[in-house]
Amino acid sequence: MNQFEAMHTLLEFPDTEESMPVLFVGHGSPTNAIEDGEFSRAWQDIAANLPRPKAILCISAHWETVGTRVTAMERPRTIHDFGGFPQELFDLQYPAPGSPALAQLVRQTVTGAAIDADFDWGLDHGCWSVLHRMFPRADLPVIQLSLDRTRDAEFHYRLGGELRPLRNKGILTLASGNIVHNLQRMVWQDCAYDWAVEFDEMIKQKILSGDHRAIVNHPVDLSVPTNEHFLPLLYALAMQGKTDSIRFFAEKVTLGSMSMRSVLIG
Ligand code: ZN
Repeated sequence: MNQFEAMHTLLEFPDTEESMPVLFVGHGSPTNAIEDGEFSRAWQDIAANLPRPKAILCISAHWETVGTRVTAMERPRTIHDFGGFPQELFDLQYPAPGSPALAQLVRQTVTGAAIDADFDWGLDHGCWSVLHRMFPRADLPVIQLSLDRTRDAEFHYRLGGELRPLRNKGILTLASGNIVHNLQRMVWQDCAYDWAVEFDEMIKQKILSGDHRAIVNHPVDLSVPTNEHFLPLLYALAMQGKTDSIRFFAEKVTLGSMSMRSVLIG
């Protein structure tokens, strides 16, 4: 990128007076995209009260790569990265435009890691299952940032911190995962294991007390057998500012081992 391109990117995203909130959403089952249930309704209510973003940066549990990547295509495809669900879900398209300019801005903003422009991915269900309910018109540009699976939790928290200035450029960050996510122990019922509720509650209290260290270095637990669904939370928390308020929504553990707890920061 030359100096002219860098300047052009900055001009496209001028600083705003207000800081955009940050979202962590527990996305759970892909069927939340097509079900009018307690979770999808909670997502809709939150979105209805957000300032209108200029564009959306999504960090989804479902895009793990070697090295960090950011989608930079004009027209990201809708990826149906699951099996065994109703045809209606496979038919669903989320035709939001991409934003090569925002991808460039992300690459310019982050200095602690090299971020590669990606032209292959698109929008996975961690992203579109939530956005389809929050912004059903699909008229806001959306890009995705991948999770570098070779890096530790500390790296992801630090990278999240580097993204904080985007909040002052009208960019809404949607971090999409689940605080508790254990597919091996999952049951198709609206119930909750005690250990899942305890872990979820512990993380809630650490979020409220601002103890991000304890969250980054969370204990090994049945609730987080692999951390790809947990890591998006670290990005959202790292973008928290000193004066931000915290609001939880969709606060519930369901399917035995799936926490839908979602967080609005700011
Ligand atoms: Zn998921």
